[in-house]
Order: sequence, then C-alpha cells, then structure tokens
Amino acid sequence: MALRQGLDSHIVIIGSGIAGIAAAQKLVKYGFHNVRILEATARSNNIIEIGANWIHGPSEENPVYCLARHYGLLEPEALSPENQAMDIGGHPPWVPNWFSSSGKKLKAEDMNPAVDLFVELLNEASELESRGGEPQASVGDFIRTETRRRAEEQWQGEGAWTRAQRMCLISNLLKVECSVNGSHTMDQVGLGAFGLYKTLPGLDCTFPGGYEGLVRSLMSELPGGLVTYRRPVSCVHWSNTKVAVQPVSVEVEDGERITADHVIVTVPLGYLKMHHSTLFSPPLPLHKLHSVQRMGFGTNNKIFVEFDSPWWDVDCEIIYLVWEDEEDLVDQVADVKRSWIRKLFGFTVLKPTERYGHVLCGWIPGHESEYMETLPEHEVMHAVTQLIRRFTGDPTITPRRMLRSQWFHDPWTCGSYTYPGRGCSAQDLDNLMEPLPTKGSSQSQVLFAGEATHACYYSTVHGALLSGWREADRLISHYSSTGPPEPLWSKL
Ligand SMILES: Cc1cc2nc3c(=O)[nH]c(=O)nc-3n(C[C@H](O)[C@H](O)[C@H](O)COP(=O)(O)OP(=O)(O)OC[C@H]3O[C@@H](n4cnc5c(N)ncnc54)[C@H](O)[C@@H]3O)c2cc1C
Repeated sequence: MALRQGLDSHIVIIGSGIAGIAAAQKLVKYGFHNVRILEATARSNNIIEIGANWIHGPSEENPVYCLARHYGLLEPEALSPENQAMDIGGHPPWVPNWFSSSGKKLKAEDMNPAVDLFVELLNEASELESRGGEPQASVGDFIRTETRRRAEEQWQGEGAWTRAQRMCLISNLLKVECSVNGSHTMDQVGLGAFGLYKTLPGLDCTFPGGYEGLVRSLMSELPGGLVTYRRPVSCVHWSNTKVAVQPVSVEVEDGERITADHVIVTVPLGYLKMHHSTLFSPPLPLHKLHSVQRMGFGTNNKIFVEFDSPWWDVDCEIIYLVWEDEEDLVDQVADVKRSWIRKLFGFTVLKPTERYGHVLCGWIPGHESEYMETLPEHEVMHAVTQLIRRFTGDPTITPRRMLRSQWFHDPWTCGSYTYPGRGCSAQDLDNLMEPLPTKGSSQSQVLFAGEATHACYYSTVHGALLSGWREADRLISHYSSTGPPEPLWSKL
C-alpha cells in the first residue's frame, strides 16, 4: 500500500512518556494525521528530575544529546568536543568523598584498590555476553566469588583492617550497582545478559533547565490536543486471526472503546508485569509473556536533601557511605523495617551550587526503597539525618528540607527501569519489542515501544526515544513501498 493512503490510518499511542511522544513526533512529521496519545496521568510529562537527570553518553550517536543540542538546551561545556570524546565506559570520573559508619572520613588512596577491582569485575562481567559464557547465574554471584578469590591473591600483604575495609567498600559498590541497574540485589541481574547494555562515549551531562525542556520541545512539534490526559487504557482488544476488518480497539477505563488500525503500547515494563492479563484480550502469546516475566524491573528512588551549608568537600561530586560491619559483600538488608536506610549507598552533589544551593541527591534501590516509600516524610527525614550524623560524626547537621520519589507505588509505573534478569538473553528483548499478531500476519496491530524494548539502551531516555522512533518507522515502512526511512536524527 502506498504511504499516502496509509497516512489516513488511525494510530493510538498508549503512554506519553518520551517513547510515546517520540513515536507521535515522527509519525506526525511524516504526515500521519490521525495520531493520538492516551495518557493515564494528569501530568504533561513524567521525567522531571525526580526521574532521569543525566544524558548518559552525550555524543553524536545519542539522539537525546542531538535533540538537546538542536533545541539549544545544553551548556557550552557539554557541547565541547572534549566532553563528547571522553569514553568513560559508564563510570563517570566523579570526585568522591568516603565516610565510614564510625564517623571517619576515609582516604581515597586507601579505597582505590577496591574500586579498581570492582570496575575490573564489572567490565569482565559485561564482556561475558559477547563470549557466550556464564560462569555464574548472576552478576552478584560473579562479583562475590571473584572478589574473594582476587582479594586473597592481591591484598595478602595488607593489614587485616585494610582488607576488611575494602570488602565493606565493595558491599557499598554492590548497592551502587543495584541503583544503576534498578534491581533489589545484584543476584537478580543475569550475568550472561549483563553486557547487552551498551554505553556511548561522552561525559554524562545534565539539562540546566531540566529534562522537561526536551519533552516540551518535542511536544511543541505536535498538534495541540494530540495527547489526552487522565485517560487510562484498561484493555487492548486485538485480533489473532489473519484478516480483521477493524483490527484493534482500545478500551478506556470509563468504558469507551476507540477503534484503530494500530496501537503503540509504551507502558512501563513494571506496569506490564502487573497488568498484562487484563491489558490484552486475547492474552499475550506465551513467549512474549515469559520475556515480560523474565526481564527485571525494580526500584531506584531519589531522596533530595537540602542543607544550609555543605559538610562535604568543595570539589566533591559523590559521597559514599561505607558500613564497617559489611565485610560479607552484602547488598541486601536483613531486617528491612529496622534497617532500610542501610541500602542508601550515598549521595550525588547537585552542581553548580549557585543554581541549586547545597543540595544532595540520595540514592536508594530495592525492596528497602519500596518500604521507604510507605513511611511518612518526617520519618524518612529523621532516618536520613541520623545517617548523616553518624557517618560524619557531627551531631549538629540538620537538613533544611527533603523531597523523595516513590516510583514503586506510582500505579502507572510500578518501579523504575528495566534490567536483564537471571537467565535472560537478547531474545527476551526481541520478544518484548515484537508486534502482535506475532506470526502469520503483517498487520502490526499492536506495537511495543518504551525503554524496556530497546536492545541495548534499555533503562535510559535515549533508549526510550529510539524505541518510539523505531515503531514509527515500522509503520512508515509498513505503508511505504520505498523501504524504511532514514533515521530522523541524522537530519538534525
Ligand atoms: C530515579 C530514576 C532516575 C533515572 N535517571 C536516568 C538518567 O539519568 N538518564 C537516563 O537516560 N534515564 C534515566 N532514567 C530512566 C528514564 O527516565 C526512563 O528510561 C524513560 O523516561 C522511560 O520512558 P518511557 O517512555 O519508556 O516510559 P514512561 O516515561 O514511564 O512512559 C510511560 C507512560 O505510560 C503511562 N501509562 C501507564 N499505564 C497506562 C495506561 N494503562 N493507560 C495510559 N497510559 C499509561 C504512564 O503514566 C507513563 O506516562 C531514570 C529513571 C528513574 C526512575
């Protein structure tokens, strides 16, 4: 069918996160004029800095970076060739401050051998995917086994105190990785699939005016009224038969049914895990469902805390909190109700100070974070205050105010972002992005976008953006006799 006729087709996009907006933007740009987005919440976007704040790998290959530059949303430093050329392999070279649970400041030079070992192990774990080997089932198992073995070999000459301290530090770094991956423990993150995630060159940068600026700029390219808010979709009715007259319809929570030629589902994987049985009729094919279940979607929350004056060094960019009784390489808390705060691995420092004041962003992943969400704000504030007083040894430090995210209890997200679970492979990501019906039809009734559907940039804004463009391309190709179009961002 010629693209011109296809431009009349009715396309419903579920979800107005970056994936949904990107899909709409590309379709509208190509001339599709019956596109609409149904969004469950009242918000005009969901990625204000309580969620994403960095562009990971800001360089030419990163479409978020290219768009941000195009819209003039970045500062000169982020645009410099030096910044883009820096290949940090996912580990930004931030200036650290280390504090211990007995209130001492630890010296970076004493900590560095443990950091180096940890980074070496993460890099090795990433390489296993291309080698097709999986000596252990999870990244956690691998790191524990290899840390013990190599520490025995490499740190023999060190005193018992130093060796113990380094093991405690590795426990802290395991919690950092839980935050990075959005997992409860690194024992849930599949070792064989860990290397599927790819980093891009460039030193992570932020939007001085907030990530919101990107969403606003993209939205400005859409016709007004294209997004309907407070319209949660309760069911997507699709057809498993080869020929269907009106292939798909979307049922909204108030009972209204909207028919369409195509539906692009961009709901988060956490939502899909919880609601797949009611969201699709007929249900998802088994292989797709199994991948939804196998892939991981955990919680990572931010706790912003503001102070009158800093208790960290002027140049400090990240603060690590090392518990001195965690020699056992632990990344989970045994008694969550009593000790959930132990999972908060530390803080990043919001820079520049002239813009933000003295604000830290605490990071807490896992079930401990999910429990934290249930507590009243003053209890969280109290726990954070006690934590900081203990680690600095200064009983006078008092935060001015606090703000936290609650991603797990957000009914439309049900967590933070995707990681490959134990036993996962590239096939699971292929299954997640595969349209319905999966076999014997070229109809592409129901398409899937969203960060969880990107083969190597899952868990990121650029992954979400590319997944939206990918599904728009799929429809453009479907109606086009000239083959798939050029990527949109190459034209910017
Ligand atoms: C704490 C945190 C920090 C992060 N930091 C970074 C970072 O620094 N850099 C980075 O690149 N990425 C980061 N991310 C990840 C990034 O924010 C996400 O990968 C990205 O925003 C996902 O976009 P999306 O469009 O796939 O999903 P979403 O933005 O979740 O959009 C899905 C939409 O679907 C809607 N929806 C759900 N159910 C329904 C329904 N039934 N009917 C209608 N609508 C529905 C939801 O309300 C939502 O608006 C972070 C995430 C978190 C939580």
